[in-house]
Order: sequence, then C-alpha cells, then structure tokens
Amino acid sequence: MQEKVGNCAECGGDVYCRGGFLQGVVQEDGTLICFSCMDEAEGERDPD
Ligand SMILES: [Zn+2]
Repeated sequence: MQEKVGNCAECGGDVYCRGGFLQGVVQEDGTLICFSCMDEAEGERDPD
C-alpha cells in the first residue's frame, strides 16, 4: 500500500509514502525531494 505524497522538486518524479515511510525528504521550505536527488544534493553539500 502506497500513497502519493507529492512530486520531487528536483526531478519532478512522484514521491510516495509506503508502509508509513516517506520515500523522500521534506525540505525546510516544505518541498519534497526524492531519495535519489537527496543523495546527489547531500553529496555536493557534505562530501564525506
Ligand atoms: Zn528527484
């Protein structure tokens, strides 16, 4: 069971909530980012 929450602000792809877990991240400005875009953004921001 999954429910569409919104669209990724980066790639425009659908972001779902599945089994109570959001398949992405809500940013401080309220927009959604999917996991794949989040990984790229974090890689730029905080290379570890
Ligand atoms: Zn995305």
